[in-house]
Amino acid sequence: MKIRDHNQIELKHAREKLTRLAVTDGLTGIANRRYFDEQLAHEWHRADRMNHSLAIAMIDVDWFKKYNDYYGHQMGDDCLRQVATMLSHTAKRGSDFVARYGGEEFALILPTTHSQAALTVASNICNAMRELALPHPMSEFGRVTLSVGVAVGMPSINETAESLIAHADEALYRAKHHGRNQAVLYQPKEC
Ligand code: GH3
Ligand code: MG
Ligand code: MG
Repeated sequence: MKIRDHNQIELKHAREKLTRLAVTDGLTGIANRRYFDEQLAHEWHRADRMNHSLAIAMIDVDWFKKYNDYYGHQMGDDCLRQVATMLSHTAKRGSDFVARYGGEEFALILPTTHSQAALTVASNICNAMRELALPHPMSEFGRVTLSVGVAVGMPSINETAESLIAHADEALYRAKHHGRNQAVLYQPKEC
């Protein structure tokens, strides 16, 4: 093989690696926040074109500060890796997309999914987390648990990808408020 060809291949591999690194979360190996934002914009446009609904779930580890305080930051990191792996295995439909949103928060995009199906996926995630049975002596549940906020929307004048995230955040807030360790579906307020 000519030296020039060899250099070209090395350059191609280096570029591919850079692209991969740019969209991957360094700690967990799943998609990062940047990739999530891109993917959400993409799926939102697709939902618009196809007249489909789109579901997202915001997932937050319960009492994670206490976990870090009790076990230390490295065990905390390890816990986040296990959460990421579990999420990747639980949301397993080809089009499902799992990302680390930031800190101890994860996010899920479920294209062409209706409310009840999305809530079922979110509840399965909470159950799968409990079944992992990672000890958390500082939590009332004795193990690591998750709170999940789910929102389903269709692109329209009144609904944007940003408002969908805000709705999922509101549902997550309610899940925390109602005792954590549960999934809550966003319900629009009655006029
Ligand atoms: P809540 O149930 O209300 O969500 O309580 P919380 O303690 O989980 O929430 P809070 O926002 O108070 O704390 C989040 C903690 O997550 C604090 C921060 O140190 C920790 N954290 C964020 N990112 C990382 C990380 O990459 N590694 C580790 N080990 N900890 C992290
Ligand atoms: Mg949080
Ligand atoms: Mg938390």
